[in-house]
Amino acid sequence: MNKFEVLNRYFGYSEFRHGQEELIDAILSGRDVMGIMPTGAGKSICFQVPALMLDGITLVISPLISLMKDQVNALTQLGIKSAYINASLSERQLNTVYAKAQAGQYKIIYVAPERLLTPVFSDFCRHVKISMLCIDEAHCVSHWGHDFRTAYLDISTFISSLPERPVVTAFTATATSRVRDDIENLIGLLNPLRVVTGFDRENLYFEVVRPKVKLVALKRYLDLYSGRSGIVYCSSRKNVDELYETLREEKYSVTKYHAGLTKQERKLNQELFIGDEKEIIIATNAFGMGIDKSNVSFVIHYNMPGDIESYYQEAGRAGRDGNEADCVLLYGASDVRMQKYFIDNPEENPGLSDEEIETLRQLRLQKLEKMIYYSTKATCLRNYILNYFGEKTKGKCNSCSGCNGNDMSIDITVPAQKIFSCIKRVRESEDKRTVIDILKGNETEYIVSKNYHQLKTFAAMSDSAESEIEKHIDHFIKYAYISEKRTGSLYLEDKCSDVLWNGKRVRKFAEKSDKSVSAADSSDVDIRLLLKLKTLRKLLAHKSGVPDYSVLTDYAIIKMAAEKPENMEQLRKIEGISDHKLNKFGAVFLKEIVRHCGRNIEKE
Ligand code: ADP
Repeated sequence: MNKFEVLNRYFGYSEFRHGQEELIDAILSGRDVMGIMPTGAGKSICFQVPALMLDGITLVISPLISLMKDQVNALTQLGIKSAYINASLSERQLNTVYAKAQAGQYKIIYVAPERLLTPVFSDFCRHVKISMLCIDEAHCVSHWGHDFRTAYLDISTFISSLPERPVVTAFTATATSRVRDDIENLIGLLNPLRVVTGFDRENLYFEVVRPKVKLVALKRYLDLYSGRSGIVYCSSRKNVDELYETLREEKYSVTKYHAGLTKQERKLNQELFIGDEKEIIIATNAFGMGIDKSNVSFVIHYNMPGDIESYYQEAGRAGRDGNEADCVLLYGASDVRMQKYFIDNPEENPGLSDEEIETLRQLRLQKLEKMIYYSTKATCLRNYILNYFGEKTKGKCNSCSGCNGNDMSIDITVPAQKIFSCIKRVRESEDKRTVIDILKGNETEYIVSKNYHQLKTFAAMSDSAESEIEKHIDHFIKYAYISEKRTGSLYLEDKCSDVLWNGKRVRKFAEKSDKSVSAADSSDVDIRLLLKLKTLRKLLAHKSGVPDYSVLTDYAIIKMAAEKPENMEQLRKIEGISDHKLNKFGAVFLKEIVRHCGRNIEKE
């Protein structure tokens, strides 16, 4: 199988993204590589595709012990044989993994860096063929990085202890030039191909707000994003707990995550969020590394982080599916005090001399200054971040609050009430055009024939331009207040009743460019079918004990609900549906689609 066949068969994608092919070709030719690509760019494919093509095992060194299981589960879902070796396994489980690995049953094995030089592991590595060593989150090797981990320094000794030097590949999302040099030198990469793809994440909108009362601002945002999935980051466990309690009492769909919770609590809460049972997770930075939840639509920082690296990494967890997503930072002067406190009271980092500790302190203070600048003075937020990572930029981005002006939210409760009420009065049986005609007060033949000019909402928005009414309706469709039937008629989702009857207010942030919600054209999506497919996906995910998007991505599901494939061949053409997924799930999804369409046809 060549690399395109592997990409297509295992991952269901038809083309490589920027940078992927170059890295894969170099790896396959036996050359070391260093891939520096932003979160969501697709680093995993860069080592997973060659791992499947090389004849031995690929060892992936990852700091994310708690998440290795999820990563292995995700690979298993794709039909790729893999395992992990870390402290969470019992002696017996470890022996089974070693035995199966020796029998050639795994292509990819995840391992924690602390394990590399242990006798049993070293012995194991001398008796199997390791064709590639992949170092994920490679910035952890550098003091200059933001997640320095001493065990990463063992990697070069480990490489020299192997009977045959494998091709060595290093990947990270955030690395300044100092960190890049450290990665190359401390890991001992040999003449590596360095691929640095653009750091820009075009689908992310950046916003900094300096609210008088953060909680009020946060709730405004959460209301605006209602129905969508998002992360709220806080700097301390105490903040997480307090915010969680407040929002939970106010009936927001929230869960929480921080290192002070028990392992079981963390696991459960993470699953609630990943499985879309809870819309919002309130978390410290302990949450998120390595989590590939593709449909996160917003990341709000309730507190300012200590450096741009951490901010961009955390904010970058939004919009991994390529859809438009927002990254908001709520800045307050107390954030600076808190970060200074963290710097003066650092976590233990064994093995560092006093001098090194002081150098690190100074470095963190410098980084904090840059973060404060971003939060208070940067004229274009996106450019500031990109320049920080050494990228040149041209002109304003026009997609951040620096360019567009910040905190310009507007209350759209009144138009919401008029539009919802109009849709109700026509018994949810009319399309967008007719609803606009009624609200605008257009006495067309159709309007008169249906007596709609007698309605209370007739001409209720006569002062607004038709295009403005349309924009409002599109906005409500986008934020899932209104949905469209296959016939085009508009209907109201449950949450509209709070706006109509219970005084709930709706806000919209005016300055943002209008952004589409989904990768597929949402106007073509059969919403009812989409809901059915999502339910089916949840069921299948539950059965396999994996998150929903591991069964099929949101993108694939939305595409299905739009294109309604009639056979397996058409289904296979949808991006994200690989051979393996087609074999495993194709028939049951197809059955659901056919059943749904059949029922609709009978009705019409
Ligand atoms: P990173 O590790 O760089 O943060 P991932 O490897 O988790 O990113 O990839 C992010 C998302 O992009 C995943 O859902 C992945 O399946 C998808 N992806 C990666 N490569 C491609 C590709 N060539 N075409 C389409 N989607 C891709």
